[in-house]
Amino acid sequence: MRSLPQRTCMGCNQKKDKKELIRIVKNKNNEIFIDKKGKLEGRGAYICDNIECLDKVIKTKRLEKVLDTKISQEIYESLRGVILDK
Ligand SMILES: [Zn+2]
Repeated sequence: MRSLPQRTCMGCNQKKDKKELIRIVKNKNNEIFIDKKGKLEGRGAYICDNIECLDKVIKTKRLEKVLDTKISQEIYESLRGVILDK
């Protein structure tokens, strides 16, 4: 059996299959995108598809640390939208 690539969630620090996580990408122009298809180039960060992990990430500013840039409220709001929209 082929094992799927795993990544660590920034919120709960658990390893999960990459496809179960939401990827957030910073490209070389320092722009932040929510990478729904997992294909965008740049530095990636991962979070579980749940609000608890998102709230944790917002509180601890983990995303800003991992991607080493300021994250706007808009990005967090769109992440919340992606998570709730299922
Ligand atoms: Zn998590």
